[in-house]
Amino acid sequence: METPTQFFSTPIYYVNAKPHLGHAYTTIAADVATRFKQMDGYDTYFLTGTDEHGDKIVQAADKEQQSPREYVDKISRLFQDLWPKLNIGNNQFIRTTHPDHIRVVEMLLTRIHDRGDIYFSSYEGLYCFGCERFYQERELVDGKCPDHGVAPSAIKESNYFFKMSQYQDWLIDHIKTHPGFIHPKQYETEILSFLKEPLEDLCISRPKSRLTWGITLPFDENFVTYVWFDALTNYISALGYPDGPLFTKFWPSARHFVAKDIIKPHGIYWPIMLKAAGIDIYNGLNVHGFWNVSGSKMSKSIGNVTDPVAVTDRYGVDAFRYFLMREMVFGLDANFTEDVLVSRINSDLANDLGNLFSRVLSMNLKYFKGRVPDPNGTDFADLSLETDAQMVIQHFKDAMTAYEFHKGVEAIWGFISRMNKYIDTHEPWRLAKEPDERLRLEAVIGNLLEGLRTVACLIYPVMPETSTKMLRGLCMVLPETGFFPLEKIGKWGQMSAGACLEKPDSLFPRVDVLKKPGH
Ligand SMILES: [Zn+2]
Repeated sequence: METPTQFFSTPIYYVNAKPHLGHAYTTIAADVATRFKQMDGYDTYFLTGTDEHGDKIVQAADKEQQSPREYVDKISRLFQDLWPKLNIGNNQFIRTTHPDHIRVVEMLLTRIHDRGDIYFSSYEGLYCFGCERFYQERELVDGKCPDHGVAPSAIKESNYFFKMSQYQDWLIDHIKTHPGFIHPKQYETEILSFLKEPLEDLCISRPKSRLTWGITLPFDENFVTYVWFDALTNYISALGYPDGPLFTKFWPSARHFVAKDIIKPHGIYWPIMLKAAGIDIYNGLNVHGFWNVSGSKMSKSIGNVTDPVAVTDRYGVDAFRYFLMREMVFGLDANFTEDVLVSRINSDLANDLGNLFSRVLSMNLKYFKGRVPDPNGTDFADLSLETDAQMVIQHFKDAMTAYEFHKGVEAIWGFISRMNKYIDTHEPWRLAKEPDERLRLEAVIGNLLEGLRTVACLIYPVMPETSTKMLRGLCMVLPETGFFPLEKIGKWGQMSAGACLEKPDSLFPRVDVLKKPGH
């Protein structure tokens, strides 16, 4: 059977500010999805990058008395340096100022212009300088920009426009005939309701008199292209469109991770641009909600909780990744507060998982001098956790395949809680006192160790470091990929019987809420 492929991307992040929590979430979600697909046997490609043109960049650079080039190099570097700290395994980092990208943008514009879908027209309208866009009268609130609260200025400008309306019926049909194209469902509904209104043509240029920091239109050197043709094209330029091997291999499986504020360009403009250029449409969009950080923007112990570097430095990368995946229902909004983060670390990570791990290994050390008992060599079917483990693997797989990360995590923690109860029920310390119960004790500890192995394998996409730490503690030889394929995890008795396990280091120290460091 041919290996299935999966291409995931994040949006390219606009470099007018430092990376924040929202950037971190989208990128970690795409990373978790990628690692899961790898476990599930897919050949994957994962793309992220930075969006580096436009007048907001020029303004931000001016403010710091730098050239746009110096400024974008500096901010893009912050993103490139952040991802390894968050264990993001992207295959490529694209920058829209790179010549290869610029070449593909020019190619796409030329193609659509040649087909007659780009035209020149003069436009008079209400323009908000803060938003860098024209507004329709009906979009204003009391005559003012809804974002900036200032009245837009009437300006007249000639520009290039992309005719979108003739593709509207095609797009509606495509969405309706491709379930899951826009995921989750509520965003499909939102896009279809946008499409009930006639689509206006999209202004795709700026005169060089107003903006020079952009890609010159290949058919008019007095204009640069503006925003969407420059930004969205990254998804194909990165893969080497039109004929690069990555494009051929991965484009048909492309799914874009985006936050809900950019579904219109991704769910409407982008498929229409592709259609107009005669390029196959991407496979789908994965849309997530916002993190609310209101009321807790500044934290006493770590400063700004929206700064992913500060959170990671303080609590560790796996705890941060776990929290983001556990706390947000993919598609809906969620709250980010340091208190909830700390309580998740203490209850889910230190207590449920960390204690289970050290408890089982300590008992194994005490009762068997660390030797792994053979769970297959015993005759206690009533003690087996194998069926439970296989059910968890199936639930995990179903949830992760549907991008329901919180459910995937919940499935694993359900199993952890099952194991904690199993210890209380079977009381290994009592069995250890009865010489007749020696085999039963072996079965109990053997099953718990196999259960821990299962957990260690399954947490890999969300917590790669902890997964490795646990598997090493269980004396498992890690494959070169760093993970065990999903289909191989469920089989019981994979730990080498007789291997000697030592007392593990604590996986997650409890965070003392009363005595935060520095206070
Ligand atoms: Zn505005």
